[in-house]
Amino acid sequence: MIPNLDWLDDAACAGMDSRAFFANGCHARAQVHAAQQVCGTCPVQAECRNWAIQTGERHGVWGGMSQQELRRTRRRFTDRSKSTTREAA
Ligand code: SF4
Repeated sequence: MIPNLDWLDDAACAGMDSRAFFANGCHARAQVHAAQQVCGTCPVQAECRNWAIQTGERHGVWGGMSQQELRRTRRRFTDRSKSTTREAA
């Protein structure tokens, strides 16, 4: 199934250098903060965040979340899915 990525058309980061969302080096924290500022204005923030969680993105800022925040959210999402599956069994 081909994923629907139409929401990207409305992204605040459309046309920006994607490296702005993949921080590294000694200015990583400032880069993440700057990327999150852009995400804060984005009308498709929820779609972007959901995409990153569902596809297991491990790097970069997505939906206004740092990779550490995404990892924690994904873990909660996965834990909840496991407990729901166990309850259903
Ligand atoms: S939430 Fe941030 S990374 Fe995602 S589409 Fe919007 S501006 Fe881009």
